[in-house]
Amino acid sequence: MQICPDKILRIPRSGIREIFDLVPTIPDVVNLCVGEPDFTTPSFIIEQAFEAARKGATHYTSNAGILELREEIAKKYKKEQGISYAPDKEVVITVGAMEALFLALTSIISEGQEVLLPDPFWPNYEAQIILAGGKPVFIPTKEEEGWVLTPDRMRRYLSPRSKAIILNSPSNPTGCVYGPEELEKIARVAKSHSLVVISDECYEKIIYEGEHKSIASLKDMRSGTIIINSFSKAYAMTGWRVGYALGDEDIIKQMTKLQEDVAACASSISQEAALAAMRSGDGATEEMFRQYRLRRSLLLEEIEKTPMISCSSPKGTFYAFINIKKLNQKSRDIALKWLREAKVATVPGSAFGREGEGYLRISFATGEDKIREAFERIRSLMKRSREVVFEKGGDN
Ligand code: PLP
Repeated sequence: MQICPDKILRIPRSGIREIFDLVPTIPDVVNLCVGEPDFTTPSFIIEQAFEAARKGATHYTSNAGILELREEIAKKYKKEQGISYAPDKEVVITVGAMEALFLALTSIISEGQEVLLPDPFWPNYEAQIILAGGKPVFIPTKEEEGWVLTPDRMRRYLSPRSKAIILNSPSNPTGCVYGPEELEKIARVAKSHSLVVISDECYEKIIYEGEHKSIASLKDMRSGTIIINSFSKAYAMTGWRVGYALGDEDIIKQMTKLQEDVAACASSISQEAALAAMRSGDGATEEMFRQYRLRRSLLLEEIEKTPMISCSSPKGTFYAFINIKKLNQKSRDIALKWLREAKVATVPGSAFGREGEGYLRISFATGEDKIREAFERIRSLMKRSREVVFEKGGDN
């Protein structure tokens, strides 16, 4: 007897998890898989959480979350993106961006409707679209085009069932950041087909080239766009589970209604911590960003020193999506080989969709010594297995 419905069985097991689960079984691994900051949450945020709990912030909050936090979020979007949102009607606090996405997709998708997804993509999008009853439609993006979705390709994948598009800038896993002109083109196609745009802006504070522009800030785009954001990456708060969504009142109203049935609210203590982060966290965010920038330079140098692999510099996030096509093997095979024989954990690009084949995702949310050590091990494995002729400088 099949107990679980096809919809659930169809959701693929995350290719990231396969490697994650193997890591603890192999001693002394340098782990470049992690999708979160290696920093501990800044201590003033932790202190504020203790303080709030002692003062009684230990109860359910309203479904939409504490009003002060929603006010700070609305202020931030007004200041940084010039978009106005009513804190009492157009902002909802969620259990991480993950739940914000779930509530958004569940609120807008009818059975069988299609959601466009630029490929490579963060795998949870695919699972969540299916959970919401929708059908993911993958649109290829290419390294040689900076991994940016082109409007022509987007048009080719539209159908009468297209309902929404998920845009993730800066992108996990490719590190691409959409510029205003690129967003403008996507916005025009989305508008002319009445698509809802779900704009996942979780990595907006980690940008090395260009700057963050929310598609909702473009002319006529505020309506019909749902912004998804999170405290996880910007403030090293992944475990606190606080994210949020901003959008039109009618959508946020439905998402807030569903919140009651899914989680009731995000943790009250975590919301208080998030409030402290919003009010005084800029310095801490900037310091972490400075570290990411140094690590990114180091990682690019190490890649440059290593034969047969290359990487277009990530404009944002703490991921590099490295091109391994010259190694002529599937990304999963290379990831498993590097894990077992070099003791370096990376994520196969195939975990991020068809267009990810031929790539590995490397996280540089880890110390510089670990990045150096990982690449020494990879080069040493390459030499041992005589896979490559070491023609790039420095290491032979
Ligand atoms: N969106 C993207 C692109 C992510 O990479 C992640 C986490 O890795 C999330 C959303 C979820 O973040 P949160 O911790 O806020 O649920």
